Parts: sequence; structure tokens; C-alpha cells
Amino acid sequence: MTQYVYRFGGGVSDGGAGDKNLLGGKGANLAEMASIGLPVPPGFTISTAMCTRYYEEGETFPESVKAEVAGGIAHIAAITGKQFGDAGDPLLVSVRSGARVSMPGMMDTVLNLGLNDQTVQGLAATSGDDRFAWDSYRRFIQMYADVVLGLDHGRFEEALEIAKEDRGFTLDTELSATDLQALVAEYKRIVEELWNKPFPQDVHDQLWGAIGAVFGSWQSERAKVYRRLNDIPADWGTAVNVQAMVFGNMGDTSATGVAFTRDPSTGERAYYGEFLINAQGEDVVAGIRTPQYLTKTAREAAGAKPASMEEAMPEVYGELAAVFDRLETHYRDMQDIEFTVERAKLWMLQTRSGKRTAKAALKIAVDMANEGLITREEAILRVDPAALDQLLHPTLDPKAPRDVLTKGLPASPGAASGYAVFDSDTAEKRANAGDAVILIRVETSPEDIHGMHAARGILTARGGMTSHAAVVARGMGRPCVSGAGSLSINARDKVMRVGGREVREGDMVTIDGATGEVMAGQVPTVQPELSGDFGTLMAWADQVRRLKVRTNAETPLDCRTAREFGAEGIGLCRTEHMFFEQSRITAVRQMILAEDEAGRRAALEKLLPEQRSDFLEIFEVMAGLPVTIRLLDPPLHEFLPHEEAEFAEVATAAGVDVDTLKRRAGELHEFNPMLGHRGCRLGVTYPEIYEIQARAIFEAAIAVAEKSGAAPVPEVMIPLVGTKRELELMKTVVDKAAQAVFAEKGRTLDYLVGTMIELPRAALMAGEIAEVGAFFSFGTNDLTQTTLGVSRDDASRFLTTYVEKGIYAKDPFVSLDVEGVGQLIALAAERGRKTRPDIKLGICGEHGGDPASIAFCEKTGLDYVSASPYRVPIARLAAAQAAIRGK
Ligand code: PEP
Ligand code: MG
Repeated sequence: MTQYVYRFGGGVSDGGAGDKNLLGGKGANLAEMASIGLPVPPGFTISTAMCTRYYEEGETFPESVKAEVAGGIAHIAAITGKQFGDAGDPLLVSVRSGARVSMPGMMDTVLNLGLNDQTVQGLAATSGDDRFAWDSYRRFIQMYADVVLGLDHGRFEEALEIAKEDRGFTLDTELSATDLQALVAEYKRIVEELWNKPFPQDVHDQLWGAIGAVFGSWQSERAKVYRRLNDIPADWGTAVNVQAMVFGNMGDTSATGVAFTRDPSTGERAYYGEFLINAQGEDVVAGIRTPQYLTKTAREAAGAKPASMEEAMPEVYGELAAVFDRLETHYRDMQDIEFTVERAKLWMLQTRSGKRTAKAALKIAVDMANEGLITREEAILRVDPAALDQLLHPTLDPKAPRDVLTKGLPASPGAASGYAVFDSDTAEKRANAGDAVILIRVETSPEDIHGMHAARGILTARGGMTSHAAVVARGMGRPCVSGAGSLSINARDKVMRVGGREVREGDMVTIDGATGEVMAGQVPTVQPELSGDFGTLMAWADQVRRLKVRTNAETPLDCRTAREFGAEGIGLCRTEHMFFEQSRITAVRQMILAEDEAGRRAALEKLLPEQRSDFLEIFEVMAGLPVTIRLLDPPLHEFLPHEEAEFAEVATAAGVDVDTLKRRAGELHEFNPMLGHRGCRLGVTYPEIYEIQARAIFEAAIAVAEKSGAAPVPEVMIPLVGTKRELELMKTVVDKAAQAVFAEKGRTLDYLVGTMIELPRAALMAGEIAEVGAFFSFGTNDLTQTTLGVSRDDASRFLTTYVEKGIYAKDPFVSLDVEGVGQLIALAAERGRKTRPDIKLGICGEHGGDPASIAFCEKTGLDYVSASPYRVPIARLAAAQAAIRGK
């Protein structure tokens, strides 16, 4: 016969910490604490398996369980010496739910169960405190009516208020035993009125009612919603914990509190918590009275008056501190604890791993490894890589008030305040004049690069997590909120409207790229502290990871930032951004507007020295590390003006008439630019563009080699290849340029020519393509877009719904669609390696900085991931975790 009831306390433990699936987190830890001899009020747990069976059998309990529960009650009675329902000295219990993971939405707690019209008298007699007994009964009816019977708790609050008003009191505590007795009568009357039955007097009925309510709450709407949002399977079920009551409200030698074994916000090794003398559990969290500090040091640091627990109850405090240490060594992690002191006797009610900030997680992991409590590998696994983001950027002061206007997507972390500006030229002008600005656009395009660079933060109404704004902002380390759909932005009138409010140019706004919040006015920020712990953990991570970590960067500044964060090379240098700079855009436009190859070459010749100096600086900063440079990728019309107002000025600068400019812009218009004339298709039709870029790369590399003696090994990357022939043609162009430069300079260099894998066809044909390409870099932004047939620039409008409805577990542009796109990557890697065993394999889409995607890259055996500079540390840690988990 299956066992459903597991006892704990009084030297008995039927379960332990390893039984979380069966006993829930709370039950497993209570059993564990009891088994290591800590003072736990005796009780029992009805397993999650019973919950599952309860639903399978039409919400009924089998007879065998009734007998088991009776045995559980007998266990508690034997240890406490009290009988359930005994009018003389009654046993009272608490009933609480406890799933595998803590789950809001579930029925929480019923305290003081076992009180009725008779036992309340016994409680009064044994406690010697009438008021305490009647107050306990009153609380019990109120809780039971609310969570078990589902009656309107407002009615009980109301009755309590009236009782106080009638006597001219303001506090519950002013009510006397007689007052409370009258209130109990009134509560019972309300129950009968609303429930059509008297309040249950049979303590066994009470108990089964509460047990049924806990199991029932597993299928409540709130619980279902929570499960859906957090991927918790419905068949996990919840457990029920029934435990002897202990009272923190039995006078001044009683107390109740919550504590962490280390500071959960800083990670400092100091007990941290709050307690209240003469109070029951919920009083601490309810905020009715101000809780007191646990330690003297904390009280003094806060300049608070009321004695700390250390001072008020030194002996019990000493015991508690010993329990904290015991629990930490036992669980080998920081614990979050609930305790009660009943007449100077300490009782432990709960322990679990404590939630903590990123900063605390880092410090606790490093400290515990140094203390010898955990291994370095465990320390590495303890820190959530994504949470490192919190540490690398300024964040909003959590204490400051916020006037939130709307919320968009948290596209690039960090917070920034500045004057609102609605175009990039103004952003640049004001920034040059020393102003902090926030660039606000409907969406950004490559033309906005200078404005984005100048701005402290970027806000867009459209675009998803991989929109231009998001990708570029992350790359630059600028905070960005994208896709804030409720904003209406009028760039012409320089105004943004949202929810009946207006923000005009020059108004102060704040964005929080970690939450997506957009706020009016300035909110103070706090600067990140890259403490010693950060460096220590990173060094440990570097020792165990196999994957190399490169960066996506195209300016010397970004390259430097990335190197500071530990990048081991550049995985993607997008060259198009370099073409938008003010000094070059005219030559770029002349190249586009030229009628023939000679015209294009003439314009490209002007660009050559500029490109060369770009690469020169980058090679210098990267000092011998591998640098992958991607040749031009975006469609040419992105470089031409779109607005009528700009045509005249641009035409004059480029030396053509407005009509020619307009005609050419019209010719270049595309219905689906992302699937149009871009990537290597540009190089196939205008080989001179790639030729000049290649020449700039080789000239720069040789110049650096001559200057420093260390020759860089450029990796020239061809975008959007779908066939071997495309790559062959482009490789010929690059090789020819290399030979020409080598001949002119009288020296040669090693270099590689490879391709991005961004199209399903390229993945499928990888075996053939590898005959030509020396490396593959998976461009998973485009590969996701082309495999899913979902435009990366338009996806935000419906992807949220898709994720909500469970069509995709996560935004596939943020976290790799391992099931689908992942298959193409694995297949391409395999076919590529078969042709060319030493082929270099990397990933340079946004997924290269996403921990779950990095785990997939480790499993697939890629050589490196490439992430934007600020995500390099995240990638290093995630790669280390993936390596450890893969062992
Ligand atoms: C990609 O497609 O994944 C990629 C890195 O290139 P881009 O984002 O520039 O298209
Ligand atoms: Mg791409």
C-alpha cells in the first residue's frame, strides 16, 4: 500500500531534504531539520502523490489515508502530550500547503486549527490567558472562513472594526477577553449567514476541511495562471503540512521572526532578519507593528531604538545563531528561515535557500568556496549568469520614487535619465554641448548610430528584442527600452504622448532597460561596483570553460570594453556601421548613385583610407586576438534618405540632381529588404565593394604587423551565403585583393575566408560550403528569422502572445529555438566538420550572449560564442556552467 503520510519531529523523520518532489519544499525541509536534531514542532506531511490521487479519484480521500492521518495526529499527540479536541488541554495545529517550489496562488496557512467552543476554554486554562485564547479562536475562525470556506473576509474585517469602534479603540490589542468572546459570537453568526451552516465544531471536520482546501487550491485559477507563467506541470501537485502550533504571542518571553543566514542584498556574512516580541507569524509580514532587528550591530547601524533580539533575549538568540550556522553547513547555502519563540523555547518553522540579489549571489558563492563550504565548481553554478547584467550597468536607486509613464521591452540593461530628444542630430548636438539625452524614436535605423552613441539611453515605440535599436544599444552598452507600443511619437512636432500625458523635447525622462519602465523626470542611479568577487568568480569560470568567448564589436571603444570584460577576440565586426559616419556617408551615397563600375570605384577609393584606419585601430586594440570582419550586409537603400526634406541636401552633397537621387532611391526600393538585395548578393553584383573592403583589411593588417611585429590573422566573413558558388565567387574576390596587397607590400599574412550560416539552405549545404569556407559563424538572428519565417523587425507585435500561449517557450530571437533552429545548427556543424575536420565554428547572433543558447552551443561542440561587450562576462560564466553540467 502506498504511504501518503510522513511524520517528523520528536526524534522521528520519515522523510528528508531529498524528498522535495514527494513532500514539497516545506515538508522536506521540516523533516530534514527534525532529522538533524533541530527543534521542530512535531507534525506530518501528506504527500504530493495524494494530491494527484485526490484529483484522479474525483476529489475524495481513500480510507487508508484517513487512518494514516489519524496516525499522524497520534504522533503529534504523543510528543506534545496534548489530545486533538481535548477540552482540557487541546492540541492545536497549523495546516499549510507546500509544493516543490514555493507557489503564490496556493492556499497558504490556517493557524490554531482545533479550537471550538469547548477547547477554547481549555486553551484559556492551560495558558492562563483568557485574552490569548479568545484572540486565537477569533483569528482561527477568520482564517478558516476565508481560506477554507471561501467566505467574504471583508465581513469579518468589518465586524472587527465595528467591535473596536464601539469601544473607542484603534488597535486590535486593546480588545479585552470579553470583547473578543463577543466578536467570536459575531463571527460565528456571519459564518452561518454566509455558509448556511454553523462553524464546524468537530476538530476532525475542521482538519479535513483544511486538507481538502489545500488540495483544492492546487487547481485554483490563480495557481493555474502561476503554473502556466512559470512552467510548473499540473501533475506535480502540492503537499499538506500539519504541525503542532507553537505560539509567539504568549507574552514577553515569546516572539516570532524571519531571518536570513547572510545579508540577501549585499551577501555580507551577517545574520539578517526581523522579529517581533509577543506576536504571531503573520504580524511580522503584515506591517502592523514595526519589527525589531535581530542583531545589535544591525540595530545600531540603523540607529533604531527598540532592543534587538540579541539584546532582548540573549539566550534564545544564542541558540538561534547556532541553528543558523548549523543550517548553513548542513545545506551548504544561505538559508531563509522562520522561527517562533514560545515562552523562551525556540522552534524552527521553515528553512529554504534564500533569494538574493546578483551582488549577494556573487559574494556568497565566492565566500562559501573560500570558506571551504562548497567547491569552486559549485560556486560557479550558484550564480545566474543573466543576473550579472545587474552588476555591469548603473541601476536605478531602488529607494527613489518613480513616475512610470509606460512599459516596453527590457531591450538593453542599465538605467539612464536625460532630456528627451526626437532625432539623432539633435541628440548629438545636445550631447556635444554636455547634456544627457534620451533618444526617442518610433524605431531606429543605421542612420541613427551617431544619435544612439551620443545618447545616454534609447527608447523606441516599435521593434522587438532584436530590433536595430536593441541590438545596437546592447552592443554599445546603452540602456534601451524598445517596443513601448503605447507611446505615440511625433518626431516632427518633437513630442511623445502616453496615457494622456505629454513629453516634449527637453523634458527629463528616465528609462530602465532592465525592466522596460519609462518614467517622467529624473530618477537617481547607483553605479556598478565590479568588486573583487566578480573577478574571482570569472577567473574560476575561465579555468573550467571549453567554449571561447568573443565579442560583437565594431568600434575601438567597444573592443576595449569587451577586452576589459574578457573577450578573446571579435566574432563579428559589422562593417556597415562604419559607413554611416558623417565623414563617409557622402562617399557611400556616391558609390550607390554611380551609374557604372568606374563611378563606384571612384567613390570606393575615397572610402578606402577610412576603412583601413577603422581596421587598423581594431587590430591594434585586439593585439593578435582573432578578428572576424563581416563584409557589407544591409541593402543599399538603407544608406539613402527616406524623407522628402532630406533629398535636396543629400543630392547637393553627393553632386547629383534631386531627380536622379529620387529615381535611384525608387529603383532600390524593396518589398522584403531582409530577403532582398543584401548580404553576399551585394558582393556578387558589385564585387568592387567587397574588393575594397578586403583591401582595407589586408592593408591595415600588414601595417599593424609592420608596426608591432605581431601579425593579426584576419577572418574575412561573407554574409547571407546560401550556395557554395556564392562563397567561391566572393572568396576569389577576397583572395585577389589579398594577393594584390601582398605583392604591393612585399609581405604576406595568414588569413581565413569563411561564411555566416544564416539561411536554412546554407545549413543544409554546409558540407559543400565547407569545401570553400574555413569557418562558419552561425548568424542566428537571420537564421531564426529565415527558419521560422518570422521577421525579426516585426515579431514583437505578436511574439508576446505566442509566448503567452505557449507556442514558443521563450522569444526565439532572445533564446535559441533549440528544437527547430538548433537542428539546423547541429546538422551544419556535423556536415561542415565532415568536409573540413578543423573548421572553426562559432555563433554571432544575439543568442551568443544568452545562457540557455550557450548551453546548446557547448553541447553541439561549437568552438566559440560571440556576444556584445556587456554580455561577455555573462557568456563566460554561462560557458563555464555548461561545461560543468556537461561533465
Ligand atoms: C545574424 O543574423 O545573426 C547576425 C549576426 O547578423 P545581423 O544581426 O547583422 O544580421
Ligand atoms: Mg545576419
